[in-house]
Amino acid sequence: MYDLLIQRVDVLQIANGTPTILPQHDIAITGQRIVAIAPAISPGLAHETLDGAGQLAIPGLINSHAHIAMSLFRGVAEDVPIEEWFNGFIWPLETNLTPEDVYWGALLGIAEMIEAGVTCVADHYFAADAIAQAVQESGMRALLAWTLFSGADEHDQLARARQFTEQWHGAAGDRIRVWMGPHAPYTCTPSFLRRVGQTARELGVGIHIHLAETAAQVAQSMAAHGQSPVQLARDTGLFEVPAIAAHVAHVSSDDIATLAAHGVAVAVTPKTEMKLGIGVAPVTAMRAAGVTVAIGSDGAASNNTYDVLESARLLALLEKLRNSDARVLPIGATLELATAAGARALRWDDIGGLQVGARADLALVQCATAHTQPLHDPAAALLYSSQPADVSTVIIDGRIVMRDRVLLTIDKPRVLREVAARIERLTQRQTTQRMAVYPELAAGE
Ligand SMILES: [Zn+2]
Repeated sequence: MYDLLIQRVDVLQIANGTPTILPQHDIAITGQRIVAIAPAISPGLAHETLDGAGQLAIPGLINSHAHIAMSLFRGVAEDVPIEEWFNGFIWPLETNLTPEDVYWGALLGIAEMIEAGVTCVADHYFAADAIAQAVQESGMRALLAWTLFSGADEHDQLARARQFTEQWHGAAGDRIRVWMGPHAPYTCTPSFLRRVGQTARELGVGIHIHLAETAAQVAQSMAAHGQSPVQLARDTGLFEVPAIAAHVAHVSSDDIATLAAHGVAVAVTPKTEMKLGIGVAPVTAMRAAGVTVAIGSDGAASNNTYDVLESARLLALLEKLRNSDARVLPIGATLELATAAGARALRWDDIGGLQVGARADLALVQCATAHTQPLHDPAAALLYSSQPADVSTVIIDGRIVMRDRVLLTIDKPRVLREVAARIERLTQRQTTQRMAVYPELAAGE
């Protein structure tokens, strides 16, 4: 007997950048996995059935770089450059956060992601144990990293990250995994990066870090260390384990070759990068060099949404514009950045596609909407026309977490109340206290 049978749904599969639709198929799920995809499977073989008629089944979207709990700071730092964004707003405000705030912020972000068809996220934040709690309860899948900064308490931070890894890596039936999260080369000294890399090797986990976000950061790295952030990360041992580098907007051809040689995945967060005016990774050159490029949202304080399809859409448009070539990043390849390539970036090999044997992480998307009809090309409708509200039902690890737009694992009214009750306290700004200091970097220095 199957646990769940989704009936008469159009199934989106993507292979080597080419989308295919299996029309009116059934998807059978047993336990955490997809066990059959075929037309007309007998409903008598399933404990539960879901009618998928008129809907598109898509692989659950993968958000390869986020700070989920920054949902709390959505809209607090608008139209300011990155230095002011960090030093004037985000890092002072984050000193107000308690682990309980982070927990409710995480649930808000996870609710938004599930509502947008996102089933897995690589998160990078502090109080990550509160995020792990939210992930565990909500049924989300996540790769978590506890953000680390250099400072007097480096030793304690590393010990806490180690303990967090030992407690949560593989937890919730392997829905939760943990990597190490040094923040960036401009907030971590080379010796600290070396220790973090060493710890990751000892624990057998990967590294998730921000790299080369701005031209000024690269210039500062060259001045201080005689090498780019990418080369510094390599030389401090961060690429000796699986790694996700977020942003990586400013790179040389040598940097791209280094990323490719070490299998470092790049999580591009185009909406943040465009909004802060800092530059977007040369995605086409990176992909041509064999670098795995995936899509992230970054935090809601810079992106404003956790809508991964919106970020993918923006990247495709930007790449077409930047290359003056409409053929760049076609639909299937762009959708892969948010699915199969995300799975490769997170080194999570049984998610990211709708195949027999894969983890049952998927979303059903309503196609009978005015903005997607007529449905000449379902993949095009998904990437260029769909809206998060078109996602009707979401399944993660075989469990229905949203059905007909109703979240089943998150008490959304309570989350909204808890967040609202915290906002006045959380938005008190005292710029004398900061999580870290963004260095004064003059462009072209
Ligand atoms: Zn980030």
